[in-house]
Amino acid sequence: FKDYIKGALKESDMYVKTDTTRKLELPEGAEGVLVKNLYLSCDPYMRLLMTKRDTGGVFSSYTPGSPLTGYGVAKVLESGNANFKKGDLVWGPKIPWEEYSIINNTESLFKIEYTDMPLSYYTGILAMPGMTAYAGFFEVCSPKKGEYIFVSAAAGAVGQLVGQFAKWMGCYVVGSAGSEEKYMTHLLITSLGCALEQVKLLKNKLGFDEAFNYKEEQDLDAALKRESTLTLTWRLIVSDRCFPEGIDIYFENVGGKMLDAVLLNMRTHGRIAVCGMVSQYNLDEPEGVRNLMHIVSRRVRIQGFAVFDYYHLYSKYLEFVLPLIREGKITYVEDIVEGLENGPAALVGLLSGRNIGKQVVVVARD
Ligand code: NDP
Repeated sequence: FKDYIKGALKESDMYVKTDTTRKLELPEGAEGVLVKNLYLSCDPYMRLLMTKRDTGGVFSSYTPGSPLTGYGVAKVLESGNANFKKGDLVWGPKIPWEEYSIINNTESLFKIEYTDMPLSYYTGILAMPGMTAYAGFFEVCSPKKGEYIFVSAAAGAVGQLVGQFAKWMGCYVVGSAGSEEKYMTHLLITSLGCALEQVKLLKNKLGFDEAFNYKEEQDLDAALKRESTLTLTWRLIVSDRCFPEGIDIYFENVGGKMLDAVLLNMRTHGRIAVCGMVSQYNLDEPEGVRNLMHIVSRRVRIQGFAVFDYYHLYSKYLEFVLPLIREGKITYVEDIVEGLENGPAALVGLLSGRNIGKQVVVVARD
């Protein structure tokens, strides 16, 4: 990336460079690995690393003029480390956005064991976003069967899994997303004059009980409280029921106005797991939140968390999620773009909601 930025990320803040001076071999005696990068993960936190600011000591900013780094999947071509051999497939958090890399810090690489799974899943459901959803929902939210759960950015890498885990637990789940394709009900009037309900990603494919497009709502508080049933014909009943009785658990991905509206709708002793606040990442000054007093009156527990505190649960998570994937009980939606040169557009799109599902960039497929 070029230099530290202000405001919204633009494609022109990044550039693609061809470097013919580098040799595709490990230097003599090197203890790292030479890898071919296969899949790169686009993640919202990457925007935070493009600004020189205090992120609470969790991240360190990128260096201008250097390749972006992030989560990804790679294949080992040469190894100077006894733990890795040529041909191993690995995933990790420090994969440079380049075709080939020498990675000296091999402690940040995890070997991929389950090669029957799509390799791209190791940027998503089988890697950091999957662990985030698992730890954030089960460990931080302490969910109980029958509780009312709200997930923002619900069609994204993390949100789609939180919603499905909550359904697996027997909870009532509502998600919000920001585009037509991602959310829910459209009434199609056919040529015969019949009304059909066309249900989209969140409700149909991912099994959410209800969903709404927050960009179409004038009043987010009212949207969260909504309960309406519209009978169009004797057969077709369109119900639109969010949380007339309040929210037990909010899985917070976006912050800003949505958090303010949610605070007005939390039930007594509700929990909010603060996973991220993507609506704030492109802003130079964060927005204020007005309804904080509801935390006191409703005795709400709000807890931020960082996924890397939970990686010790990774094998337990795999034991949980692999059978669900194999049995088709969990779906994982990916938004895959081909070519490293299309990475900047994919990253910009992620921060404006163009992605539908986990945003992945394919550098090479093997
Ligand atoms: P997503 O795949 O959900 O992509 C980001 C989504 O955020 C977009 O698709 C868009 O969806 C939504 N969005 C973008 N801009 C805005 C905006 N201004 N207001 C509201 N929504 C917006 O990303 P992830 O699933 O990877 O990440 C979700 C959240 O989880 C982020 O906040 C991220 O920082 C956080 N996170 C935290 C981790 C932790 O350890 N705590 C680890 C991983 C992620 P839409 O259509 O809904 O607008």
